[in-house]
Amino acid sequence: MDMRLTIGWLYASKMNIYGDRGNVIALRRRAEWRGIPVDVREIGMGQPIPPDIDLFFWGGGQDQEQAAVARDLQGAKGETLRAAIDDGAAMLAVCGGYQLLGHEYRPHDAEPLPGIGLFDAVSVAGPDRFIGNVVVESRWGDLVGFENHSGLTTLGPGVEPMGRVRTGRGNNGRDGTEGAIYRYAVGCYLHGSLLPKNPVLADWLVARALERRHGFVDLTLLSDQMEAAAHASAVQRAVLTR
Ligand code: GLN
Repeated sequence: MDMRLTIGWLYASKMNIYGDRGNVIALRRRAEWRGIPVDVREIGMGQPIPPDIDLFFWGGGQDQEQAAVARDLQGAKGETLRAAIDDGAAMLAVCGGYQLLGHEYRPHDAEPLPGIGLFDAVSVAGPDRFIGNVVVESRWGDLVGFENHSGLTTLGPGVEPMGRVRTGRGNNGRDGTEGAIYRYAVGCYLHGSLLPKNPVLADWLVARALERRHGFVDLTLLSDQMEAAAHASAVQRAVLTR
């Protein structure tokens, strides 16, 4: 079967802040540069999760958007998303999206928002906003992004974090962790957008997504000179400014 990548963009119009749409552009381009055709499907409010999504992306959003989206995901929709990840689909979720992949997010002065429990994690709005550049030591090497959140995420005992914070605050500014991983789903607080300047993670997501239907995938290497320069400059800025 000819290889093609289908990306499901969750709540594209409602949850897309701090450049998060750049992640979808990077995923699309990095597949197309290898001759792999890509479909991007927006999955909005009231729309079911299509059965043929290889890779989900879910960006950040403010608390009010999260409330509407949390309600939309309850029941069959959230269960279908969880089943897709259990079946090997890949996913990147950032900030507000990441928080709703846990058990719940408790905003300031509002009822807790239910998550889908993909990650054994709980997020609670804290007194301060964490804003700034972040460097995370991870299995993909140093990852760099920009955080802007008041939510503090605590991972359950068995949850693998995306990595450990070298610079910045991360999940909660307390335990040194940032993000979470479950199978091929990665959640984090790294806006920016993350993937254009972290190509190793971008390619890991593309390869895992393709493998679900096509078996082992060995992506050809790309030159990535611009990506490497952007990564180095962002890491330097992060280390110098925090
Ligand atoms: N609830 C999130 C927070 O912790 C929303 C922010 C975001 O998605 N950047 O502030």
